[in-house]
Amino acid sequence: MAFEYAPAPESRSVVDIAPSYGLFIDGEFRPAEDGKVFKTVSPSSEEVLSEVAQAGQSDVDAAVRAARKAFEKWSALPGSERAKYLFRIARIIQERSRELAVLESLDNGKPIRESRDADLPLVAAHFFYYAGWADKLGHAGFGADPKPLGVAGQVIPWNFPLLMLAWKIAPALACGNTVVLKPAETTPLSALFFADICRQAGLPKGVVNILTGDGSTGAALVAHPDVNKVAFTGSTEVGKAIARTVAGTGKKLTLELGGKAANIVFEDAPIDQAVEGIVNGIFFNQGHVCCAGSRLLVQESVQDELLEALKRRMSTLRVGDPLDKNTDIGAINSAEQLARIKSLADSGEAEGAQRWAPACELPSTGYWFAPTLFTGVSQAHRIAREEIFGPVLSVLTFRTPAEAVEKANNTPYGLSAGIWTEKGSRILWMADKLRAGVVWANTFNKFDPTSPFGGYKESGFGREGGRHGLEAYLNV
Ligand code: NAD
Repeated sequence: MAFEYAPAPESRSVVDIAPSYGLFIDGEFRPAEDGKVFKTVSPSSEEVLSEVAQAGQSDVDAAVRAARKAFEKWSALPGSERAKYLFRIARIIQERSRELAVLESLDNGKPIRESRDADLPLVAAHFFYYAGWADKLGHAGFGADPKPLGVAGQVIPWNFPLLMLAWKIAPALACGNTVVLKPAETTPLSALFFADICRQAGLPKGVVNILTGDGSTGAALVAHPDVNKVAFTGSTEVGKAIARTVAGTGKKLTLELGGKAANIVFEDAPIDQAVEGIVNGIFFNQGHVCCAGSRLLVQESVQDELLEALKRRMSTLRVGDPLDKNTDIGAINSAEQLARIKSLADSGEAEGAQRWAPACELPSTGYWFAPTLFTGVSQAHRIAREEIFGPVLSVLTFRTPAEAVEKANNTPYGLSAGIWTEKGSRILWMADKLRAGVVWANTFNKFDPTSPFGGYKESGFGREGGRHGLEAYLNV
């Protein structure tokens, strides 16, 4: 039996969701100037959660103006004063983490166990961590008195709405910048709750501004002439468009883009442990993870044993209500993303790979996709090359460590990789050869605010997290 007890689902009544929300500009919520709105829908129930303002050009202008005005005083505050605000924000996040976890699971579709035990603790940890740096910037190795850049325009995706916000806002504020942040159009709510937390923390007006809207809002923000720094997390395609917009403007740019990570299992790896790591690597957050271990590279000699154990484990995964504490895999974030996953999975079959999924009943409303495994995958297949961003694992095999490295690196991406082996020397050799920003050994999807995170090649450039994450927000 997979579970011995069945705790009650978390109730959505934990959090009050207003029927409509405005933009957060200069410390106040206000409608878009042209009155435009859009709906945000819960992907697990297809219920409209709220109506949210759609920011246009004049709203972008107003938010950047507010951020510019606030910059003068915010950047002049002693670091110890900025730290107080960040510590206060971190503590309020902890206090309101139950509300925020339920909200995140409703708007995004992720299981409450993940939003409660992974997203929210990491969000608070990021604010605590960068609060600690605010009065120590002169000791960070970037010169005695590094200066902030000014106004940061930040655009984030929908897979970790609040965590991506924390990765962006915490270091920016610690360094003395002010921000205008645009959350993704399918997950605007936790960023608006965060705006309320900024008010609760007494953060000076204009230091944080939140503009909800779609790609056109993001495009207007990154193109705004009075934005000094652009930070983007999202698809490689949009990242390239932003790089073209920013080119030649003198704005500082960091890009965190897509991935197609290899999770590499050697014959000496403890199989049960590797299976847990593979499952976590690809099914955590429905596989909506830029660094997901979406390509399993398994040494030929243990392929049969590993796949058998993996299928057994996949058969215990529960897909369903994100608010149910027993759920392992929640809802796919949008109908559009579901269609993209389906079409790529279909291409796998059409190109000759073998598809397998455990028998599992999917709810009749909402957007769902069963955990899926493809064997007989060749490197030429689309499912081996393209980011699926869903719960779909492509299995390839190798014979020698050199072949594993070659296959792992055979991708335009380079965000992360995983190695499973008992041999320490092999871990060091592999980590040196893998062209990936993060290499995990005998674990996967481990995050920590003290560690820099970022990509090689088309996975982007710049680092977020750790001391290196400060550099993106300072003139050094
Ligand atoms: P997306 O690129 O479609 O959208 C990301 C954000 O950009 C959204 O807020 C969107 O509204 C905005 N946007 C869209 N067009 C824009 C434009 N022309 N100019 C400015 N902003 C624009 O990506 P998505 O589908 O929301 O997210 C999934 C992608 O994000 C995946 O490729 C994933 O790998 C990547 N991702 C990367 C990381 C990382 O750290 N490297 C982390 C999470 C997600």
